[in-house]
Amino acid sequence: MITFVPEPHLLDSPRGRHWPRVPATGPAGALPAGHGRTADVVIVGAGPAGIAVAAALWHHGVHDVVLLDRDGRPGGRFFDRIDLLGQRVLRSPYEHHPGVEGFRDCELLDFARLHWGRLTRTERREIRMAQSGHRSVVPVDVFEAYCDHLVASHHIAAKTWRATVREVLPGGGTATVTTERGSLTARHVVLALGEERRAAPDSWWGAGAPPPGVSYWDESGPVGGGRRQVVVGAGLTAAHLITGALDAGREVHWVIREPGERYQCADVNSAFFRPEGRKRFDRVGWEQRLGLMGRFRRASIMFEFQPLLERAEAEGRLVVHRGAPVRRVSAGVGGTVAVRLADGRRVGGDHAVLALGTTPSIGTGLLPPALVGARDGWPELDERTMAYTRAPEVSVIGAAAGMVLGPAARNIDGHRVATTRAAAAIARRLRDGAAVAAGLEAVAGA
Ligand SMILES: Cc1cc2nc3c(=O)[nH]c(=O)nc-3n(C[C@H](O)[C@H](O)[C@H](O)COP(=O)(O)OP(=O)(O)OC[C@H]3O[C@@H](n4cnc5c(N)ncnc54)[C@H](O)[C@@H]3O)c2cc1C
Repeated sequence: MITFVPEPHLLDSPRGRHWPRVPATGPAGALPAGHGRTADVVIVGAGPAGIAVAAALWHHGVHDVVLLDRDGRPGGRFFDRIDLLGQRVLRSPYEHHPGVEGFRDCELLDFARLHWGRLTRTERREIRMAQSGHRSVVPVDVFEAYCDHLVASHHIAAKTWRATVREVLPGGGTATVTTERGSLTARHVVLALGEERRAAPDSWWGAGAPPPGVSYWDESGPVGGGRRQVVVGAGLTAAHLITGALDAGREVHWVIREPGERYQCADVNSAFFRPEGRKRFDRVGWEQRLGLMGRFRRASIMFEFQPLLERAEAEGRLVVHRGAPVRRVSAGVGGTVAVRLADGRRVGGDHAVLALGTTPSIGTGLLPPALVGARDGWPELDERTMAYTRAPEVSVIGAAAGMVLGPAARNIDGHRVATTRAAAAIARRLRDGAAVAAGLEAVAGA
């Protein structure tokens, strides 16, 4: 029997290999100004969730689709964030992929096996682990090439335009999507907006931009980075920042609010990726769901990091400050930074990076607040269709669907579950709408 042993070398997959690609056009570019066109479906956000829903709609025969994304590159923000952290492997296993459920498609594991000759011995061993039903580690390189394959084989690139959506206004069976470059009218809109970084509380430095020497995990730090780095946060992002700084020869001070760090395979309990886990979630009421989200959507670190971080701590290259929240962050003398903890400790460094997690984008700021129906930070959704209860022309895929699908909604596997529900419902809505229109025409012509 193969048993799971965390091995740090699994984290070192090569990045930037060349993969054979299905011939395809590139992304469409900036949305032409004053666009004014119509589409059956507009998808806002072309990350893994937007790609998943576009691919599923393609299988349902819905081809008049426009994707609008700030970066204009399918998957762009996801891979930019991953590369900024120097992350080489996903934390989700092979069976979690943005491919389409219930249709004949090449899945992530099939795709990796097709490119066996390009993989390292370690990567091939992980494929065997996946084939025998064990937890496996997926190289970012393989995942990116697979996303490119999905984008090419479902004709997604040419439908992806660069534009920032400012407003989505549903009504009367359609929705108007307003961007900085003009508006589009769609019969259905899907919001696949992902998550924004969680900002530090105002009390840390008195609101506004962080003090000099302090940055967030998703922005570049200062050139050089200094000799001593402080990392605040207890999740996988913090683990990547720490190992990057240790590799660069820095002394790292790690601030964790909890009494100790938590190591586990996935960032939520793996039960929530399976139907019985989702059932455990959707059979209970709102308050219990909130409780489950609080308990299971918590920061954790992949097992493979444990030996690395424990060794660095034993050797004094990593100093871990456990068990006290941050109270204040300020610029120190000589370009340094001081982080003060609630128990009075002071942690100093040349640079501090904040990895405080993310907040789901639920449509607030795009849709009128009354239509979002936000409660405890979550939108009010129809659980069968993933549409907003008060705006059936607009649905949601991704982290914002957390109170429907549970803690796994923000992950690649959760996108696939949400997509299965939403794409079928959208295709049905479009068909029903077309049938009604044909019926009205027939009546008018009679
Ligand atoms: C570093 C990192 C590693 C992760 N690793 C994993 C992993 O291994 N496995 C896993 O399952 N999950 C992982 N996650 C969770 C991950 O966020 C999701 O699985 C995935 O990225 C979410 O995809 P998405 O399409 O919902 O969001 P995103 O990838 O963020 O895509 C959303 C897109 O919408 C665009 N957008 C937002 N608002 C607008 C607007 N108003 N107008 C136009 N465009 C807009 C954004 O610019 C972005 O391009 C990771 C997250 C991070 C940050």
